[in-house]
Amino acid sequence: MHKNKTPQNKFTRRLSPLAGGLLLLIQLVIAGSSAQAQDDAITIRAGRLLDGIGGVRENVTITIADSRIVRIDNSSGPYTYDFSDKTVLPGMIDTHIHIGAHFNSMGRYGPEPGQTSEQTLLYAAENAYLTLMAGFTTVQSVGSSMDKDLRDAIARGILPGPRLLTSLDPIRVNTGTPAQLREVVRQRQADGADVIKMFASASIRDGGIQVMSDAQIQAVCGEANALGLRTIVHAYGTEAITTAIEAGCTQIEHGNRYSDDVIDLMTERGTYYDPHLGLLYANYFDNRAKFIGIGNYTEAGFAAMEEARVIGYDTFKRTLELGDVKIVYGTDALAGSHGMNAEELIYRVQEGGQDRMAAIISATSLAAEALGLGEEIGTVQPGFQADLVAIDGDPLEDITALRNVAFVMKDGVVYKNF
Ligand SMILES: [Zn+2]
Repeated sequence: MHKNKTPQNKFTRRLSPLAGGLLLLIQLVIAGSSAQAQDDAITIRAGRLLDGIGGVRENVTITIADSRIVRIDNSSGPYTYDFSDKTVLPGMIDTHIHIGAHFNSMGRYGPEPGQTSEQTLLYAAENAYLTLMAGFTTVQSVGSSMDKDLRDAIARGILPGPRLLTSLDPIRVNTGTPAQLREVVRQRQADGADVIKMFASASIRDGGIQVMSDAQIQAVCGEANALGLRTIVHAYGTEAITTAIEAGCTQIEHGNRYSDDVIDLMTERGTYYDPHLGLLYANYFDNRAKFIGIGNYTEAGFAAMEEARVIGYDTFKRTLELGDVKIVYGTDALAGSHGMNAEELIYRVQEGGQDRMAAIISATSLAAEALGLGEEIGTVQPGFQADLVAIDGDPLEDITALRNVAFVMKDGVVYKNF
């Protein structure tokens, strides 16, 4: 959409070869020494820029061409977008969502009787839209086989949604023997999975105990590592988490409860850790009537979540205090919480005691690194994809400013501009 126009070339062809050659040479010199692509570039003036890797700059101009950031400097206007009164930061990244999870037309969780897969996919598209409007330009869905079509549709560039990565269907204890699991991992990759999702532990509503054997966990992460695939593991408790880390799994989900030794081990092995402290529980409690009575959403299940919520903060605070763990951002966004993805950052800072800048990094450059996209997104620097959001206020002063997303750009395309 921002193609270089080159009317000069037509003009050059009408001149004598020598004069034409000279003119072309002059043009090349000009193009090389100045920003010839200026005509097509988008400029954004940022009153404050958080670059996603800990840097803060004031009153800078970001130049974008062909979907990438090409320059950040102090050049003056006019600007395509003047956010002198706003904070600009990288498009945020959520490494754990369930893009298809929704409430049905009867106000209950999940598909209603007779719901078609086409209807389900449209709920997922709605969730994708809400997520992008909330300033999240990349998400990882963990996931279902349906995610793939949505991922590929959004990637075509018309349907508004975040860049979507997916595990396709997760691996569970009954998926197979270790040998069969290795085959399943290979099959997932062949089917187009970006990551492997595995339930090493039961749901917290069922007690959260380790359900997959050590051999199963080792088979999945071992095979995935051999194929260059990342792994994301639902795990609670010292045993399951220790096994997953030692098996070389990439990222631990929920965590919620583990010994101090696990903190040391995660630090040592560089395992990404994605705790869910507030949004997940608040969403369940707020929407209790829409979940209760379905599967393990029982009174006892809700009581277990009340308990887990408290334990989760204790675990998180110990992790912050004792280790140097790569705490990465994820929300477990599901029915009811799509588009509220920034809320977990607010919980982590306000209730969990995380440093504001560390929280922002966890949802930008660190999340990108955890997705294997650390050289592409999550940082505002020349060469990176132009995924940018502008917000009212300063999240380093007040983390709740992340709710005020006024502008969203993904791959250099503006999807929201209030
Ligand atoms: Zn989940």
